[in-house]
Amino acid sequence: MKVRLVKPYVGKEELENLKDVFERSWLGNGPKVLEFENAWSKYIGCRRSVALNSGTAALHLAVWAYNFPEGKKVLVPAMTFVSTANAALYNDLIPVFVDVKEETLQMDLDDLKRKYDKDCVAIIPVHFGGHPVPMDELMPWARSHNLKVISDCAHCAGGQYKGKKLDMWADVSCYSFEEKKCLATGDGGMVSSDDVELMERIRGNRQVGMTSGTWQRLEQSKGKPDAYNWYYEVEELGYKYNMNDIAASIGLAQLKKLDFMNRRRIEIMEKYLEGIKDCIHVRPAFPYDMTTSYYDFMVRVKNRDDFIIFMQKNDIATGVHTMPVPLHPLYKDYDAKIPTAMKIWNEYVVLPLFIELTDEQIQYVIEKIKEFDHLCY
Ligand SMILES: *Cc1c(COP(=O)(O)O)cnc(C)c1O
Repeated sequence: MKVRLVKPYVGKEELENLKDVFERSWLGNGPKVLEFENAWSKYIGCRRSVALNSGTAALHLAVWAYNFPEGKKVLVPAMTFVSTANAALYNDLIPVFVDVKEETLQMDLDDLKRKYDKDCVAIIPVHFGGHPVPMDELMPWARSHNLKVISDCAHCAGGQYKGKKLDMWADVSCYSFEEKKCLATGDGGMVSSDDVELMERIRGNRQVGMTSGTWQRLEQSKGKPDAYNWYYEVEELGYKYNMNDIAASIGLAQLKKLDFMNRRRIEIMEKYLEGIKDCIHVRPAFPYDMTTSYYDFMVRVKNRDDFIIFMQKNDIATGVHTMPVPLHPLYKDYDAKIPTAMKIWNEYVVLPLFIELTDEQIQYVIEKIKEFDHLCY
């Protein structure tokens, strides 16, 4: 039996929507992007969303929109994908790496408070794996220190914390719809907030700073001859970060399935957890909270490399999605005191998790984990 690691759940609903895009023959930033933004805002429960071509773009522009003075500091967790920290660098800000909590792999709020100084302007919490950062504790502290909170929700689309969608606790939240994430459009991202002015600032940037898009102009001049229906201006240096109608139409179909997909992932994780509950050497990565959504399922194994090879020999794909950001050569000059992350990061490994994983495959993976666990005695 062969088990792959991830598999986007796309099918006839996405194809139907794509057909519609093809028939309209409008592939770029058009009506589907707007429809997806509105549907997303409604789903999340926020006032405004802006669709972009990646989660990285979302993080970049969310930080950009605040216009922080150059050289200020942004608190970011050490355990995350580089895009979180890149969002600081893209904006000429300095990332300050916060250590993680051993039990949850989340940003350690005590370390966050220790690392804070007067030059800090923002925090980018990451709900790592999908496990929520305790936002009810973070937000009041951030407010009292005048820090903006830009949530990296790349791992938790559709998830929630204490009855509130992730991450409507924050000032702005950034989502990734890259193919491995909870909702997949190939590549794509979204930034959401109740701060309409801030969101409109991002909308004004996302297509090279053009004041209005082609579709918008055509809509406005519909039915009335107008020699200036082509007219747009560029007020500031923007990026080419807009989503297009191809991705948005896939996103609209995926959004309808998101709750189902998240539930199915939880169901599979429950099977894994039950199956490995007696293992001693292979343990769940953290205390999973079955009321939210997780994009991957991780276990903790001391001899991870042996585990990866053992699984490979049994045709089971595993993954390691992240190492502490300061280990990347790009970040080597940052003074990062992150002892917990450094001690534990190489014990984490991602197991196969996708909607169409069969019960036989799940049982097979569990069997092999148990076999490995026994070999460790
Ligand atoms: C995937 C990911 C991103 C970036 O998303 P892209 O859509 O790939 O640009 C940002 N942060 C985290 C934590 C991620 O896992």
